[in-house]
Amino acid sequence: MKIFKFGGASVKDAAGVRNLTEIVRMQAQQAVIVVSAMGKTTNALERLVRAYVDRQPAKIKSELTALRTYHETIMNELAGDFSAVGQTFTGLENLLTQTPTAPFDETYDQIVSLGEVLSTQIVSAYLLHEGIPTRWADARLLIRTDATFREGRVQWEETNRLITRNISANLVTVTQGFIGQTDNGRTTTLGREGSDYTAAIFAYCLNAESVTIWKDVAGVLNADPKWFDDTVLLEKLTYQDAIELAYYGATVIHPKTIKPLQNKGIPLYVRSFLQPKARGSVIGNFEQHLSIPSFIFKINQVLISLHPNDFSFIAEDNLSRIFGRFAQLGVKINLMQNTAISFSVVIDNNSDRVPALLEQLKQDFRVSYNDGLELVTIRYYDQTTIERVLVGKKLLLEQKSRYTVQLVVKNKG
Ligand code: ASP
Ligand code: MG
Repeated sequence: MKIFKFGGASVKDAAGVRNLTEIVRMQAQQAVIVVSAMGKTTNALERLVRAYVDRQPAKIKSELTALRTYHETIMNELAGDFSAVGQTFTGLENLLTQTPTAPFDETYDQIVSLGEVLSTQIVSAYLLHEGIPTRWADARLLIRTDATFREGRVQWEETNRLITRNISANLVTVTQGFIGQTDNGRTTTLGREGSDYTAAIFAYCLNAESVTIWKDVAGVLNADPKWFDDTVLLEKLTYQDAIELAYYGATVIHPKTIKPLQNKGIPLYVRSFLQPKARGSVIGNFEQHLSIPSFIFKINQVLISLHPNDFSFIAEDNLSRIFGRFAQLGVKINLMQNTAISFSVVIDNNSDRVPALLEQLKQDFRVSYNDGLELVTIRYYDQTTIERVLVGKKLLLEQKSRYTVQLVVKNKG
């Protein structure tokens, strides 16, 4: 069995859904098709949750109307029995008339998860209409997580049991990326961009022959074309290289995706839905690591340096206090470095989280911080690649390991 994953960009309009259908018809009559929410629906649903929790009826109404119109436009250009979509919207509307009582993250998951429900209801109805034997499967009944809302942790044993019992090998199953459920029936999500991970979960449980992620780029490139003109397609990557690139922020694959596939030796293909005949990239068990440097850029970074208020050093007790604060506030560290009397971290400048973090850290440390920075990671670097990246930049911090260098830089001038 094959697992195909289609992201939001691939199903952003009716043409996208038709294109998906042709790819499935040509390449996967027996497969699990994992689909994300259409286009920018997840962002729209995030705004809707905000409006709901903040009790802004006018805003709720306008977001809801836009969401409905967007999906209706797509359905109007396609054909099929879309009655399930209407029911999902009715359910959503009912929910929005109730007073919000659950904590924010839990409410978020109940609403934001519906983007994937809608997209898969449309896709599966259209596949059926096009004569492809298709079954719609509710991923909430197949992927069991704990109750960490917005970052649900998969309970593998139960998930494995549910998936192997319920997925049939001789037709096309369409299911939602990104969502799951706790054992008392509350919907969870797996973290933004989590649909790739869903594909890996299905692959792992079903011992799939391969996973293919269909993207709007040719495959895994050695840099984001947003930043570099002369990017190179990486045709073959080891699991290790793919994990490292994803971990440091290459957005082509969600970082959690690779480990389950590596454990079972399942190859992961990354291919372009715009050129479905092109081979793209394959990640698997290869002997050779990459032979050219790869570049990962993260913008909007903050460098925070902590100095103990007393005469203590940066040692275990201070470090555990620092890490505790970060973990508690859900702030991910992109780079860290310490000396005897200071500790520096680089994190995303997330306005939801950074101010609260700084507040807390100031209770124990003298805090200095520097924002508007970029974090550049080069895997398989050499001096020339470092110099290339540093043109016009001021270097604030550098960290090298055998294969990877990380540079924290600021624009000069
Ligand atoms: N729709 C979700 C998001 O945009 C999950 C995904 O696309 O993978 O984050
Ligand atoms: Mg998405």
